[in-house]
Amino acid sequence: MPLESRLPSSASRLLRLSLCLIGAVLALAADRAGTTPALVERHLEAMGTLLGLSVAGPDRAAALESSEKAVREIARVETLITTWRPGGPLDRVNTAPPGGAVLLDAEVSELLNTVFGWSERTEGAFDPTVLPLVRAWDLRGQGCVPDVATLSRALAATGRDRFALDAATGRTRRLSSDAGIDEGAWGKGYALDRAVSELKRCGVREALLDLGGQVSAIGPARVAIADPRERRRTAVFLDILDSSVSTSGNSERGIVVAGRRIGHLLDPRTGRPAPDFGSATVVAPSGVTADILSTAFFVLGPEKGLDLSERLRRQGFPNEALFLVASDGGWKTIASPGLRSRLECPGLQAREQSPLVIPSPSLPFCHPERSEGSAPVALSRFVRSGQAPQRICPGHDLSNRPEQILRRFAPQNDKKGSAAPLRLSKR
Ligand code: AMP
Ligand code: MG
Repeated sequence: MPLESRLPSSASRLLRLSLCLIGAVLALAADRAGTTPALVERHLEAMGTLLGLSVAGPDRAAALESSEKAVREIARVETLITTWRPGGPLDRVNTAPPGGAVLLDAEVSELLNTVFGWSERTEGAFDPTVLPLVRAWDLRGQGCVPDVATLSRALAATGRDRFALDAATGRTRRLSSDAGIDEGAWGKGYALDRAVSELKRCGVREALLDLGGQVSAIGPARVAIADPRERRRTAVFLDILDSSVSTSGNSERGIVVAGRRIGHLLDPRTGRPAPDFGSATVVAPSGVTADILSTAFFVLGPEKGLDLSERLRRQGFPNEALFLVASDGGWKTIASPGLRSRLECPGLQAREQSPLVIPSPSLPFCHPERSEGSAPVALSRFVRSGQAPQRICPGHDLSNRPEQILRRFAPQNDKKGSAAPLRLSKR
């Protein structure tokens, strides 16, 4: 006999009501499952390198939509500034007859103005007009060692004064037939800034973007800085908040010509590859600033780079610098003051030491994947919903610049990570 028919009618009504209520609660729970806070992770190709995004949202659809906007924004920026394909605004400037004006739209014109401004601020160590030298050393091809005449011609065509920019009207002229703008040292940083703006416009409060090794974070992140000679290994962990981290250094693969390794970071003042000491990392609120300064600090070297980093801070350009300098078969870690308490050298208890120079002997280096288990992931409360890799735009080959930084989210309740992540105040 069914249970209901054995019960008095009032109890039966109560049972039916209870069953209805349980059903409603279950349905509501199922419905709500569709709107559970979600973390979308995507890996694709952009700007000739790999783009990894982790975007948190109130639900999977929202996180996906935000991530898609960020990806599209990066693709838009690539089209806007690439000099690897013909027809874009910068390519038109680079191929215009000397003295002939090219009219740039407000975004590109302002961007160029900003980027050119850094040439003077870094005393020429960063120079966006380095393309003649990039060509002389064939850095976009197989590489070559230029003869003296070629090098001096390229050097003569390099420099801020080889271009006339009118930021008010966007009229831009190159003044010599060999002059050219190269976006390699700043383009990815700008693309990250634009993508971060898009994500913020969508209301995203936690995200991490990794574009070819440069990382930008909304919210906290723990970033692993690679061993300059063996990039799959981590030399240092850095805790950041709402910042971008860029590292410049020569890849272990690099370009080799007749047995000689050619660095892709050129000193525009000599026209030659800058001496290779290890790597320069910059943390800054803006991606384009971090990108530019890591290139400049590598060219300047640790001593002058650290000096400039401090001068720029005093002038109101927030930045922190970290140099990994080859020393006795290991790495010396030299950091600007604001970074010293934010560093962790695997196996070295750097937090307890917090000195300016942390000796990093050839380690017990810690592999990020293996250390993952010991650090709770801040966003693990979100459902992981991976996207199949997509190919958004082919881009150019940057095989001389493999992934430099491996990243993880900041540990949430990690005892070692009790210090707040580094937040640089914005201008
Ligand atoms: P990054 O890896 O961001 O330091 O940028 C390196 C790329 O920027 C190189 O592959 C060149 O295309 C370009 N480049 C090299 N040296 C310089 C320099 N001193 N200033 C500006 N761009 C440079
Ligand atoms: Mg750079």
